[in-house]
Amino acid sequence: MMDVSKLPTDVSGKKITVLGARRSGVAVAELLAHKGADVLLSDINPVSFTAPQQQVIKSLNIKTEFGEHSLLVLRADLVVISPGIPATAAVVRKIEAAAIPIVSEIEAAYWFMPAADIIAVTGSNGKTTTTTLIYEMFKNSPYDVYCGGNIGTPFSALIPQSLDNTGKSKVFILEISSFQLERIIHFHPNVAIILNVTEDHMDRYDHNIKRYLQAKLNISKNQTESDRYIYFSDDKLLKNNLPEGPEKLPFGLINIPGMHFTADRKTIYKADGQALLARKDISLLGEHNLLNILAALNAVEGYTLPEEKVIQTLRRFRGIEHRLEYVQTIAGVEYYNDSKATNVESVRYALRSFSKPVVIILGGRDKDADFTLLLPELQQHAKHAILIGEASPKIEVVIRDTIPFSHADSLQAAVETAAQIAAAGEIVLLAPACASFDMFENYEHRGRVFKKIVTAMTEKEA
Ligand code: ADP
Repeated sequence: MMDVSKLPTDVSGKKITVLGARRSGVAVAELLAHKGADVLLSDINPVSFTAPQQQVIKSLNIKTEFGEHSLLVLRADLVVISPGIPATAAVVRKIEAAAIPIVSEIEAAYWFMPAADIIAVTGSNGKTTTTTLIYEMFKNSPYDVYCGGNIGTPFSALIPQSLDNTGKSKVFILEISSFQLERIIHFHPNVAIILNVTEDHMDRYDHNIKRYLQAKLNISKNQTESDRYIYFSDDKLLKNNLPEGPEKLPFGLINIPGMHFTADRKTIYKADGQALLARKDISLLGEHNLLNILAALNAVEGYTLPEEKVIQTLRRFRGIEHRLEYVQTIAGVEYYNDSKATNVESVRYALRSFSKPVVIILGGRDKDADFTLLLPELQQHAKHAILIGEASPKIEVVIRDTIPFSHADSLQAAVETAAQIAAAGEIVLLAPACASFDMFENYEHRGRVFKKIVTAMTEKEA
């Protein structure tokens, strides 16, 4: 067995099983093989690689087994687990019974990171937006920046790109999911952000928000006094569970002492009370994005970035595809694609972002969500709900006495109905509060289909 209690830097000759052969699994298998480990890449599902990928795997002597986890996975000094595999999986139980250490992909990648800072962003919602915003602030700056993790390039694949000595300070800006934080040992961000902790993935945490919170709080477990911990102080759970080591920087809409950045309805302020910029000059829509901005400002504060550049980024950054993304205005109705709103909390923020009446398209695959939490915002902002997918009967029961609704058996039909119901000056919003896998490959696919339907309507109109 490998001793992982001290930071391992030499894995040569070690037998390592990597569980899960999607992007991060493949990337970490390659990194470890490159460092001389004897790697087995195992996935319970069939996996097909492109010819160039196969070539790389072959050249690094990585063994593979797809379609099952055989007993071979247990012939290992260490197991690296992909974020998609839950602690309850049979294979994990077997590995634990065999007392083989298990670490997550970000932990293994961390062992080989060059001297660099890590800014790590976690939370139930807003990770990708905030991570990207921070990256935009760092781009074209005197730093060498690498952005990835749970989005884009896995941490393990960023490592080989970052090894050259450029003479500049290096910064990794990483989006980290709670799954990735479950099995870390040494992973140590200099700046850790927890944006929020609201119900999501409850199916994987025994419906116990404390367990989910615990995974998120792991982000700061190795932080010391010279590090910074940035947290959403409007959230009682976070406020009442502060880590001991790092400097603590709260952000939120409720002002509390210790905040470096605050906002009122019109302006974002710095710690000294001076205005940083007017909120009307920010391109990102909604209160949730103001929170993401406050978190990002705290994160970049300790770095040498010109204030003007930070302000420019806030003026220009319009957000990311499928996150409250403006699509088109047809017959005076504005269409928004928030396909990434896959949980209840993100839909509540989406609805609150509009002052005009909203026709909302809701539904998909339920993640054991409590849809009653949507009722106040639905009542206040929604004119009508159109329900799609597996969750529609469950949502109907919750909303039927609150707002008018209808059912649609496809997204196409849902958009057509929405177009009939919405009047000029109103909003049509796809914000499903559910996963997409009952009808689509993923949320991106759902968002693209939505945009295609909307765009086709424009063409018909023209
Ligand atoms: P993540 O990477 O955590 O899933 P995204 O930035 O992709 O976060 O946003 C996911 C969804 O949550 C989108 O619908 C987005 O509009 C919404 N959202 C973004 N930031 C926040 C926030 N701070 N609080 C609640 N919802 C948010």
